Amino acid sequence: MPHLLNVWPSVSRLLAGPSRVLLMFDYDGTLTPIVARPEIATLTDETRQRLTALAGMDKFVVAVVSGRGLADVKAMVNIPGLIYAGNHGLEISGGGMDFVHPEALALESSIAEVTRLLEGQLAEVPGILMDNKGLTLTVHFRSTPGSYSVQVDDMVVATAAPYVAAGQMKITRGKKVVEVRPNLDWGKGKAIEKIREDCGDSPLPVFFGDDETDEDGFVVVQEAGGLAVFIGPTRSVTVALHQLESPTEVSQALALLANL
Ligand SMILES: [Mg+2]
Repeated sequence: MPHLLNVWPSVSRLLAGPSRVLLMFDYDGTLTPIVARPEIATLTDETRQRLTALAGMDKFVVAVVSGRGLADVKAMVNIPGLIYAGNHGLEISGGGMDFVHPEALALESSIAEVTRLLEGQLAEVPGILMDNKGLTLTVHFRSTPGSYSVQVDDMVVATAAPYVAAGQMKITRGKKVVEVRPNLDWGKGKAIEKIREDCGDSPLPVFFGDDETDEDGFVVVQEAGGLAVFIGPTRSVTVALHQLESPTEVSQALALLANL
């Protein structure tokens, strides 16, 4: 898996061709380092300036595609003119888009009920953080002692079990998070396809991500002839054909993109 900056001459030739390029980024672990609490994962001034500059260029459409709720990721990034996708793409806004997946919306009250039950059951677990994002629920256990992680996972599975058995919800896992999501065939890959379609002119897609839920996004952009960039160590298992080590290197790539 080549390091993106090591093969930059060929990458820049690929990106220089098409009149428009759709640049998409996951947020946590991609644009910002993974930190103990989601609210302190802020963009550096440098990354913010570089994203703002790219968004101002005719060549690029810039989107952030996150597992966070839409309002949350919008508030964290807070750059006008971007497309934002929240809840792994179940809600999308900006660039003329205003989308909420209707079947996910119908389950909002059930997600709230699972959240309420789990808040009671996990109340004694230190460092647990429940984030009801409306259309999905994320239970963060990064600040929880490792001895609790099996118990936390079991509790989430047991509490969501009636909805999972009914085919309405599914459990997914990421970096020190377990999530309860609507059981829909809709993730970052579908969201990326939709964003690209809505652009109208089939821009070349590029997607940067670091986690499990980014993998179907990688598949979609590579099938469209674009670039998938995995953020993390080279030994990782990923379908992405390019790699960067860290959000710091993503920021360096942003600077290079602005000079294409
Ligand atoms: Mg991530």
